Amino acid sequence: MIFELPILRFEKDALEPYISAHTIEFHYNKYFRYYVNKVNILLDEFQLTTLSLEAIMKRYAKRRGILFYSVAQVWNHSFYFEQLSPTPKTMPEGNLLSAINKSFDSFTEFKHKFDKAVISFCGSGNTWLSQKEDETLIITQETNAGNPFTKNYKPLLMCDVWEHAYYFDYPCRKADYVYNFWNILDWDVIEKRFDSKKLSVERFNAQI
Ligand code: MN
Repeated sequence: MIFELPILRFEKDALEPYISAHTIEFHYNKYFRYYVNKVNILLDEFQLTTLSLEAIMKRYAKRRGILFYSVAQVWNHSFYFEQLSPTPKTMPEGNLLSAINKSFDSFTEFKHKFDKAVISFCGSGNTWLSQKEDETLIITQETNAGNPFTKNYKPLLMCDVWEHAYYFDYPCRKADYVYNFWNILDWDVIEKRFDSKKLSVERFNAQI
């Protein structure tokens, strides 16, 4: 095994009532674990065990085959679960808040635009906040396992908009899922990502 399932920062029921233990069990312990195992098998098969997940995502981004899909699912889920907390910092501050205000006029307006992006998303995928090379921030919708990193954006925040992320808890109520997402999103993590020169899930990629 090269990659291991990252350890959750919280107990499985700690995000209730916003995300149930049932959803965490399926999303983290079954779905995410499946892709970690799949990636280890594929990297061995493709003889890519010396590369980072980011390097593989960039190399295979255009082909979008099973290798890109599986590697990106591991990266994306590491990123998603890392930013959730039962005791989050609920507002960004400092440089990140300034960047949000500059790109979206206000924090409230940013959240409104992000909510709209999640609610209007058709099909499976994720909604992201990223920083572009010109340092402005952008909200994008990436279908399936897509990742803004492959467009040279630096991902800061992601809401998993696949049905497996919310449907048990919010059947036919995607809007309620994203409104409650803000209650468990830890802006402390997002600020660290913003201030870091590196992509924040690199530490999950340590080879053992
Ligand atoms: Mn997911």
